Amino acid sequence: MGTPLESREAQAEAVVERLHEEYPDSAISLRYSNRLELLVAVVLSAQCTDERVNEKTKELFEKYQSAADYAEADEEQLAEDIYGITFHNNKAGYLKNAGQIMVEEYDGEVPDSMSGLTDLPGVGRKTANVVLQHGHDIVEGIVVDTHVQRLSRRLGITEAETPPKIEEDLMPVVPEDEWQQFTHLLIDHGRAVCTARNPSCDECILADICPSAKMDSDVDLASGEAW
Ligand code: SF4
Repeated sequence: MGTPLESREAQAEAVVERLHEEYPDSAISLRYSNRLELLVAVVLSAQCTDERVNEKTKELFEKYQSAADYAEADEEQLAEDIYGITFHNNKAGYLKNAGQIMVEEYDGEVPDSMSGLTDLPGVGRKTANVVLQHGHDIVEGIVVDTHVQRLSRRLGITEAETPPKIEEDLMPVVPEDEWQQFTHLLIDHGRAVCTARNPSCDECILADICPSAKMDSDVDLASGEAW
């Protein structure tokens, strides 16, 4: 019990295979119907739950339908329209500025490159990866959110601590055709079983290969601290 496989590659592959069986319908949980909506939803989701974002975007997407709508928006009104989302004032500024850049430099379209996306305010590599993967079908990397960060460390797939370093570590060991799904699978498992504060190791399908499993290990490798 709790013994990881002989290599990080083997460990990553086993994790992906088992989680595919457990979560066959794993997918992005943000709601959107086009690239602009996707970009907006992902920007809003930083440090906020997807559920809350989905609640707010229902009306938001009816009111703001183009990059120009954001560019021309009254910033205070936009902040009010996303009230309830974490950091709504900052995010209103990001959306307005991003709208302006898209209108001026991209003919109102969402950029389709990592550099074009990360030049937009409020868009880091994680957000850009999500938009590239789901909006443009371009898979350039692995989205490392808080669940991916925690689970890949707990499972001994990486010892890196920051999302950029974790992504660098994961890319050579996760099969490339699974880069996109890897994120969704770990998010599903992180929400359902391997939660931040109190993971249900006794019900976990990865317990026999997880070096953090509470039955065998005194230490949560995600934090490096005792359970
Ligand atoms: S729930 Fe426990 S056994 Fe399963 S992956 Fe998380 S820490 Fe490991």
